[in-house]
Parts: sequence; structure tokens; C-alpha cells
Amino acid sequence: MRDFKKPIIKDNRKLREEIPSIEKHFKSIEKEVIKYPKVDGLIKDPNIVTFRSCPICESKKQNQLFTKLGFMFVRCPCCNHHFIHNPINEEVLLNMYEVKESDNLQRVTNKTNFYKEYWKEVYSKYVEYFQTKGLHEGSVLDIGSGTGAFLEFLKNNFNYKLYGTEFADEVIEDLVKIVGKKENIFHKVKIEDINFNNKKFDVITMWGVLEHVYNPLQVLEKISSIISSNGIMLALIPNLNSRALKILGITTPTLDPRGHIHYFTDESINKAASLTGMKVIDKFGELPVIDLMHQYLSKDDNLINQIIDNEECYYSIYILSKH
Ligand SMILES: [Zn+2]
Repeated sequence: MRDFKKPIIKDNRKLREEIPSIEKHFKSIEKEVIKYPKVDGLIKDPNIVTFRSCPICESKKQNQLFTKLGFMFVRCPCCNHHFIHNPINEEVLLNMYEVKESDNLQRVTNKTNFYKEYWKEVYSKYVEYFQTKGLHEGSVLDIGSGTGAFLEFLKNNFNYKLYGTEFADEVIEDLVKIVGKKENIFHKVKIEDINFNNKKFDVITMWGVLEHVYNPLQVLEKISSIISSNGIMLALIPNLNSRALKILGITTPTLDPRGHIHYFTDESINKAASLTGMKVIDKFGELPVIDLMHQYLSKDDNLINQIIDNEECYYSIYILSKH
């Protein structure tokens, strides 16, 4: 059987040279937020941002880590959740996912061969994992489906019934084509507001989505209410303890305070799970070395193994279930 602790590894040394939309995507994010006025280095306008207490344990105490682009990264001393203290207001944020250039560029990147091949291998690995849990068929809900890469992979290789949610207008037609039914794609509705009519899902996935949602507890509560009793939820999120961050510091691309407003730790995801009737049953790491790190590392198997053992991969994958 496959060793699930072993991440998918592909040579990504020349990634940015070969895919210019990656760099353009990050430049474009900066362009979108740089225009917001700042006071003492922070965006404070209540029409744009709201200062919040800990979204997991509601503690009003927080320790400042650093600021970037006018946003303050903080750590909650009570539950160790890391989050943006002044995130962009939810309405402004949701509107961004519909229209913004940077997200369109992200979609261009996602459609390149390198990304498709890499993610196909990642998806393949985790579907294999679902199957070790007896989930060979049933229904899959992919929250924040994007261009539909995961749903398409499932459609081409397995027999799951497919459902998805997405905000961006441009991709809806394609998503409907992939899942085969208009009513299986929920467009422009937050997951917590969707009425599923008692329908339960066997697999629920959030590939790089949980870090974006405004109220992760509400999202997990909803998931807890729609997941079947032996079902599994997968969340891929950025890892703030990554080797990438230790090397690249504040320039690490995943420190994108416009979109990434949560940085879960083991403690905070466990807390969030237990508050919503779920449990973290497994954790994996993916992407030990991102392309930008190569110039500062001599990559060998020993280094990769250390990164895996120290849980310093760029992404963490948490698996949650009801029991
Ligand atoms: Zn907290």
C-alpha cells in the first residue's frame, strides 16, 4: 500500500519561468490592495476591513506577528490560531472572487500542463486514501471547485456522484458540464447558506479554500451537518510552519492577506473540529520544496525527509470525520 506520509514530488525548478501567470497573479494581488489607504501602516477603513477577535475561540487577545500590504497577521494566544486581524470585509471579498484579475490569472495557471499533472497525482493519492476508508463510491462535494480540476479528475476515473460550489461566473458552465447536472453546482452561495434538503455527502473536499472563508466555524458546522456518518472531509491549507516560510520569510507567496485570512495550526484545527462535532483523524504534508526555494537549498533525499518529518511542507492536508 502507498505510504500516504510521502508527498507527491515533481521537478518545479523552472516553474515561474515557464508559467508567467504565477508571478502576474501575485503582482496583481498587490495591485488590488495597494490602493487602499493606510493609517499607521494598516488598512483601517471600515468599508474595506473589519478588525476581528479570534474566529475560532473568540478571544480578544492577539499577538502581532507582522504586517504585509496593510494587513496585520496575528496569533491567538488562547487557541494558537493564526489569522488576519483586519481581513477584507466578506462582501468585498466575495465580490473579488467574481471579477478580479488575479483570480483569473490563477485560473490560467491552473490550466497549464505542469499544474494539471501535479494536481492529478495529488488527487489520485487522496482518492486512494478515501478508498482505504471504504469510500469507493457515493457522493463528493467539492467546495470552491474553481476550474473543476478535481471534479473532472473524479469524473474521468471514478464513479462518484459529483457536486460543487463556486463563486466565479466564468467557470460555471464548465463545472455544470463536468458534473452533468445544473442543480449539482451551487453558484454564488456560501456553503453555510445552501439548503441541501437533508442530503448527505460521503466525501467533502476543500482544496485551498478553508483559509479563504470568512467564518470557518460556520463552514465546518455546515459540513458536520451534511457529511455522512462514515464520511470524510479533506482540507488542504497553507502551512505557516513551512520550510518555505523559514527561508523566504515575508515574501512567501502563501502569505497573501487579501485571500488567505486563516492559517490553521494543529491546535486551532483540532479546536475548530471539536467545536463543530468533528474530529481530525489524519494529517499529511504536500509540496516540501516550492520552486522559489531551489536557489537557497541543495536538494537531496535527506533534506526532503527532514522537511516531511518536521511537518514543514508548504501545504498541510487535514482529514476530518464525525467520529
Ligand atoms: Zn483563539
